[in-house]
Amino acid sequence: MRAYDIIKKKRDGLMLNKEEISFMVKGAVSGEVPDYQVSAFLMAIYFKGMTERETLDLTLEIANSGETVDSNLVGGIKADKHSTGGVGDKTSLIISPVIASLGLKVVKMSGRGLGHTGGTVDKLESIKGFNSSLDFNKFISVANKVGLSIVGQSKTLAPADKIFYFLRDVTATVDSIPLIASSIMGKKLTAKDDVIVLDVKCGSGAFMKTLEDATDLANSMVKIGKGANKKISALITDMSEPLGNYVGNALEVYEALEVLKGNVKNDLYYVSRALSSEILYLSGYGDKTACDLAFDDAIKSGKALLKFKEFVKEQGGDLSYILNGDYKAKYSLDITLTGSGYIESINAETVGLACLRLGAGRNKKEDEIDYKAGVILYKKVGDFINEGEKIATIYSSNESLLKDAKQEFLSAVTLSQTKNLVKDKVIKIV
Ligand code: URA
Repeated sequence: MRAYDIIKKKRDGLMLNKEEISFMVKGAVSGEVPDYQVSAFLMAIYFKGMTERETLDLTLEIANSGETVDSNLVGGIKADKHSTGGVGDKTSLIISPVIASLGLKVVKMSGRGLGHTGGTVDKLESIKGFNSSLDFNKFISVANKVGLSIVGQSKTLAPADKIFYFLRDVTATVDSIPLIASSIMGKKLTAKDDVIVLDVKCGSGAFMKTLEDATDLANSMVKIGKGANKKISALITDMSEPLGNYVGNALEVYEALEVLKGNVKNDLYYVSRALSSEILYLSGYGDKTACDLAFDDAIKSGKALLKFKEFVKEQGGDLSYILNGDYKAKYSLDITLTGSGYIESINAETVGLACLRLGAGRNKKEDEIDYKAGVILYKKVGDFINEGEKIATIYSSNESLLKDAKQEFLSAVTLSQTKNLVKDKVIKIV
């Protein structure tokens, strides 16, 4: 078998068989298929798509490309949520400690930033000393001790996703239903979760811009999960404006801590609650009202915050810097608008790209991240803003990056003289 022939077959729109998919995945992991051929393979899938059967084969190959968390390793109900990627989407930092504080086991594999979106691993690594590359035994021991452990893909855990993920990020091959579905479900099947709730983002800041595409992606992943006997559902949630008020790695950890402390009840709080509640419901915790109340109580009682601190400490992180206010980059620029009115839209993709420009993400796979770069939004869609009032502040450790990022940010915002109805963030459940 040759990689060249498999790439050509997919490029020509033909269906690949299990052996061919396996050859490419195993070859990518062993290094026998070099990055440039893997990239071409991903691009061919991007353009020609995959059937349900091919997507399932790819998912299983990714899931089994390294070690798996078999049920004898971590007792109890293993539950997790995974998002398809958004801007300001830090719900994992809230949901994971909440459900772990309520007795579920979170043995989580997350990813780094992809395209204009942020990633949980990068956010966690903005915490000084945090180790997201625990070896397999330590990953399992933290999960057993704390009830919550989060790592990225590695040489031992879903290594195929690690390779594909980095290459997709820099080859414009992220927004493909089979590639997203196999990446996410590959990681969830590696962790052998019992309960999985997917947060399928929809709108300008998501990889799925339309409800139709988001529904197709949700259906594809739910089908894979059901086929593997998982309790699984997907919430399609709005990503037309950034979630919460902070975008950027350390900035988002700070905002997640604010929610965990019970200081903020914004869209981030309610989306995190809806997703947590769905996980608890599928785990048999009680009816939806009981699950909502359990979320509120985990925050109000401080149990979720304690769990988050315990987890970060166990993985080597020191939260004191962020708790003491050291989460913003040295240089900043306030942004004001000309004109006044109701905020009609804040295009989330454009905000994500402005943050990338500020240093909060990667343009090449070896790029270093500026963990304290990003934006704080003072206004959200539906709010009124006066001429000259601040809508946001942008941050970067490189002063020369601020000017262009400001222009980019400004292009994300539109005003209206009438207040439009602010829609619910949870659009539907699949
Ligand atoms: N999250 C993932 O893990 N993979 C994707 O492809 C997109 C979001």
